[in-house]
Amino acid sequence: MKQLPSLTHMLTRLIAQPSVSSVSPEFDMGNRALIDELAGWCEAAGFAVEITPIEGHPDKANLVATLGRGPGGLVLAGHTDTVPCDPGLWRQDPFKLTERDGRFYGLGTSDMKCFLALALEAARGLAAEQFHQPLVILATADEESSMAGAKAIRAAGRPLGRHAIIGEPTGMRPVRMHKGILMEAVRITGRSGHSSDPRLGNNALEGMHKAIAEILAWRHELQQRYSNPLFKVATPTLNLGHIHGGDNPNRICGHCELHIDLRPLPGMDLDELRDALETRLARTLADTGLGLEVFRLFDGTPAMETPADAPIVRAAEMLTGHPAGAVAFGTEGPYLRDLDMDVVVLGPGDIEQAHQPDEYLALDRIPPTLDMLRSLITSFCLKPTR
Ligand SMILES: [Zn+2]
Repeated sequence: MKQLPSLTHMLTRLIAQPSVSSVSPEFDMGNRALIDELAGWCEAAGFAVEITPIEGHPDKANLVATLGRGPGGLVLAGHTDTVPCDPGLWRQDPFKLTERDGRFYGLGTSDMKCFLALALEAARGLAAEQFHQPLVILATADEESSMAGAKAIRAAGRPLGRHAIIGEPTGMRPVRMHKGILMEAVRITGRSGHSSDPRLGNNALEGMHKAIAEILAWRHELQQRYSNPLFKVATPTLNLGHIHGGDNPNRICGHCELHIDLRPLPGMDLDELRDALETRLARTLADTGLGLEVFRLFDGTPAMETPADAPIVRAAEMLTGHPAGAVAFGTEGPYLRDLDMDVVVLGPGDIEQAHQPDEYLALDRIPPTLDMLRSLITSFCLKPTR
């Protein structure tokens, strides 16, 4: 029978397999080889494994590995992909796990391949008969780019468990809330003409001036209406990030385009926000004769909130000694919430190292992470011992 390899071997192999995902096709890679190897280890540890390819991407897949049976259950989740990296900026090979100064260096150590190996290590030696609720290891594709993996899990609609930990880098502090992200474009089309006679055209820049005033008024209203003191920035934010319009001072501006970034709080629905933006701008420009298009620059990430009294939140707070907080980055959490899981984001890495050259995981984070995961498995999955 196959044996679960050592933790160091698993960490080495996970880092050695490039699994970059990117919206730029020249950087984008599959994760299938990594998923297959991880699935083999899960089988060796007694899990039943299920590999689901991502539609349209035969080289990308999700893995659901289950140990034990029963209602409810605990999901330990992580993404298998990483952001692209520039090896020239690294002091060592980003794809070679390198131990130095009490740290494991490598792309994906902190964010967040290592967590998947730690989850398996925490389950080492457990047998299916000991469980009254299942332990599920969920490994996804494409978190850093399209969220295709998490979306496929949600679309499949099958509840994986009642409680979930996503091991994103939070410095061992539990997180139960994050903001969402919307990025939208506003395109205004007028008619160009010579500047000396305004009757010859219809100025898109002047229309954009009105549109921006309306957007800022909307922002003010949103910030009056929504606030959450758990966030470092307590209100939703709306940033005017990019604008381009016109070409010459002596030409009436025919086209103008603005890109905005909106970070909603939990409780603010992405589609409702999109509708509100479009409705308000359409009303503002109604009598101008200008053309208006509002479109998304990406699909957006919903905000997430898990109730403060959820059992997994309470357990994570007790085990780490920290109250559950809020972070400014998005995760796959909202997609798991849609499947009725209570989600806590909690992992051993630090967000400061994520997406940076010389990303590392401090070795002294490993034993407390394993202890914490074992405690969670014991309290949420295992039959009481007599
Ligand atoms: Zn991540």
